[in-house]
Amino acid sequence: MQGIHRHDPVPCPACGSIVDATTCVTDDAKPVPGDISICCACCATLAFTDDLTYRIFTEDEIQQLPTKSLTQLFAAKVVVLKHMKAMRAEKDGSP
Ligand SMILES: [Zn+2]
Repeated sequence: MQGIHRHDPVPCPACGSIVDATTCVTDDAKPVPGDISICCACCATLAFTDDLTYRIFTEDEIQQLPTKSLTQLFAAKVVVLKHMKAMRAEKDGSP
């Protein structure tokens, strides 16, 4: 993961969790409209809107991604799911 870019707090359109930062998996770029993101609270696939809030990135859109982008998306989702599992274990006090 690269640098963390803070932004105004906005709700995830899938779960409502407040999101106030993003990290680019490929370089240290700040998000631009159309970039794909993943909610670290619910693992929903999202896209940045023109005003850099989030919208749901649809299944149809996912299916149209080039293979390289799809591979990056799934690799990032694995990282997020591991993070979610670790956070849940920490919260529950389990190893
Ligand atoms: Zn979410």
